[in-house]
Amino acid sequence: MKCPNCNGKHTRVLDSRETNEGNAIRRRRTCQNCTYRFTTFERIEHKHMIVVKRNEAREPYSREKVEKGIWRACEKRPVTQAQVDDLIRILEEKWQNYGKEIPSEMIGEYIMDELKKLDEVAYIRFASVYRHFKDVESFQKELEKLKE
Ligand SMILES: [Zn+2]
Repeated sequence: MKCPNCNGKHTRVLDSRETNEGNAIRRRRTCQNCTYRFTTFERIEHKHMIVVKRNEAREPYSREKVEKGIWRACEKRPVTQAQVDDLIRILEEKWQNYGKEIPSEMIGEYIMDELKKLDEVAYIRFASVYRHFKDVESFQKELEKLKE
């Protein structure tokens, strides 16, 4: 782990503890060259999950893709990086339980469910892209459902 301050190669772990959720290890490190302190997280890697697309094509799960999609929906909304990280962590756990292969529709549905709790505008934006609202009417219906 290189020092983000001086690029030094030698760092020492000061403190190591589980995050509240218990699925990551948080480490405080110090650079032995410049004494700069920083934090690293160790998490389970989800790279082995396979996404099955509508046309049956398969591709490896990409956290970046999911994060990009979520941020596109959350643009200019009062949503923080920490909230997005949390949301993805919750989702990835659910997907892990789903099995090795997960349909892309399922991923979209899960994201919508979580976004709905986080920010309604972001939810509507995501849903409108994801469900390809064909007309104003179906968009209105979704809005009505939210108001209930
Ligand atoms: Zn350093």
